[in-house]
Amino acid sequence: MTDLVMGVDVGGTTVKAALLDSDGRDYGRCEQPTPTYVGPDSIVATIIDAVVGLRSQVAEAGRLRAMGLVVPGVVDAQHGIAVYAANLGWRDLPIRQLVAEAIGLPVILDHDVRAAGLAELELGSGRGAQEVLFVALGTGIAAAVITRGQVSTGATGMAGELGHLPVFPDGEWCACGQRGCTETYASGSALSRRYAAASGISGVPASEVLSRASAGDDLAQRIFSDAVTALGRALVNYVLIMDPEMIIIGGGLADSGPALLDPLTREVQGGLAWRSAPTISGGRFGADAGRRGAALLAWRMLNEAAS
Ligand SMILES: [Zn+2]
Repeated sequence: MTDLVMGVDVGGTTVKAALLDSDGRDYGRCEQPTPTYVGPDSIVATIIDAVVGLRSQVAEAGRLRAMGLVVPGVVDAQHGIAVYAANLGWRDLPIRQLVAEAIGLPVILDHDVRAAGLAELELGSGRGAQEVLFVALGTGIAAAVITRGQVSTGATGMAGELGHLPVFPDGEWCACGQRGCTETYASGSALSRRYAAASGISGVPASEVLSRASAGDDLAQRIFSDAVTALGRALVNYVLIMDPEMIIIGGGLADSGPALLDPLTREVQGGLAWRSAPTISGGRFGADAGRRGAALLAWRMLNEAAS
């Protein structure tokens, strides 16, 4: 029997789970919609459903040893508490204990984007690098700050809030209370919202705004150009402070590939007058990075317990 762990990534719209061995081989995966918030119980129930479903798939092939669970927002990894996640409506939820008791396995909790950054660092585009910024460009924007080959949490677990770097003075209000945040212009939801506000056509997803921009739609080009400017400015600031060797763009919007990465690279190069820009590349794992990182954390926990 092969020893396996489960990596679970709780997102705003989907809960993604995968069973992986210690070499990262995939033994099964599932995705379920994140329940609309009616209480923490519904999220825990969805996670347990995923465990039961995947366990039955590997009943003969493997032995499930542990779970890595990653969630968005502010996370107290040490105490296993999901402190705050606006999208999921929870505060101070002792999710590690709730899930561990329900499934009877050790669980490690961490932050979704830091886990995704870890996956890209250890197994993906950032392999072998020491100084990296991993940016998850999805519904929102967050980043994993990697320095000296380690993912940094900062003093209070809030490092990497690239989405709330104010890049346009007196810009649009952000839900966070500041003005001109990167996320207000460059996140997937911002692209869709700003396109709707400018065109009167609502419900156009960010990927479609990008496609329309490529096809020559003036309005889409203006919205996309604002997004590239916002994100470019945020990255220029990061480069000047931290001097990364590479920037990895992950998350759903990174699927656009060169349509996004090429103008973004030009923007960052153009914003740096006296020094060169680091490489900007796409992630290897796309939307799978979170659950892969979660599984890596579970293996790390088991290895530390064994040593
Ligand atoms: Zn903000």
